[in-house]
Amino acid sequence: MGDAPGWSVRAVDPPGIGTGPPLTYLDHAASAPLRPEVAEAMAPFSGPVFGHPSGSHRQARAARGALEEAREQVALAMGCAPADVVFTSGGTEADNLAVFGVLAASAQDRPGRPTVVVSSAVEHSAVLAPCRAAVARLPGVEHREVAVDGRGVLRLDRLADALDDDVALVTVMLANNEVGAVQPLADVVAVTAARAPGAAVHTDAVQAAPWVDLSAEAAGAALVSISAHKLGGPKGSGALVVREGTPLLPLMMGGGQERERRAGTHDVAGAVGLAAALTAAAAERDGERVRVAALRDRLADGLLAAVPALVEPADRKDVLPSHCHLCFSGVDREELVLLLDEAGVCVSAGAACASGALEPSHVMAAMGVDAADARGAIRFSLGHTSTPADVERALAVVPEAVARLRG
Ligand code: PLP
Repeated sequence: MGDAPGWSVRAVDPPGIGTGPPLTYLDHAASAPLRPEVAEAMAPFSGPVFGHPSGSHRQARAARGALEEAREQVALAMGCAPADVVFTSGGTEADNLAVFGVLAASAQDRPGRPTVVVSSAVEHSAVLAPCRAAVARLPGVEHREVAVDGRGVLRLDRLADALDDDVALVTVMLANNEVGAVQPLADVVAVTAARAPGAAVHTDAVQAAPWVDLSAEAAGAALVSISAHKLGGPKGSGALVVREGTPLLPLMMGGGQERERRAGTHDVAGAVGLAAALTAAAAERDGERVRVAALRDRLADGLLAAVPALVEPADRKDVLPSHCHLCFSGVDREELVLLLDEAGVCVSAGAACASGALEPSHVMAAMGVDAADARGAIRFSLGHTSTPADVERALAVVPEAVARLRG
């Protein structure tokens, strides 16, 4: 895999970033900066190694070798067999494949019987939308949503009530993207095995992946979704773990790639980037959990002390180390995001994907957060590039911005 003549990684001017105050990036849960070691691992596949991994010549073999090595690394991090890893175009596709793929296969296997999917009420739209689409498009499919408590944690008693023999799929995220609440997945698996033994459990581990050992924490789930860009990998790359014996029909049909579970020429660079990001995150996880949680606590405690009428809906002991979700009552969250951006502080209004919506998010509604508080919901999220200086800068800027908006 030597460098081809004339090939190099080009440094480009970032478009649209502009000049201005130094960047304080507190939006890792939306997308984490690319790790340099990931960029390095991916670089050959934007240059000298360009073959189609399904071919037979040396270029194809080089690409396939890298793809299969990436698969093994992902499998190691996820605690599954390499054959269980299905590379996808990211977390959204992984979630869609899990939900729609299992429901389509199950509906086909049980004609005339209901096929039920049970989800938490706070799933990402990449899970909720295919649940709803399956109800509309597949015969006999029904969707039951299970409530969370005021901290955003799934109510296991309600889950138990929703389970019966008609349930084909239970999908509960490992941690919520908006507030960071970690869900009791092991209990979900146990309750499902007891009350709906034929059902498969899927977990969207996209947010949890940088912070937990998925080979242990997601071991009971038949299907697990991850996304590279939340780990410091590239956007547009992810994977779904599909453990052997799980019924699944493909969404993408064509070539027989990924053992007929996801057709299409592989994004080799993306798969290599996912594997490198997962491996890098795993190597530093124990230390980073402690370091980042301490920074997050300093940020949350500092803001709670400095800003009046500030609500922290989740309970930090149930939350990922990265997330600091606060409701600035009486403030429009979009206005606050823009004012902070002027000062170089990048955060999200609630969740990145819900931004732009004026209504409180479905997560806030499910947690029973007061609508006036929810309209001022801001997610600060820390990660591998976060420093004490980022936190101090936010502490210097946010209280003043909130005071300005409150008039
Ligand atoms: N699931 C969760 C919990 C997420 O936070 C996200 C992204 O924000 C996704 C799924 C979608 O992942 P991707 O951006 O890779 O499509």
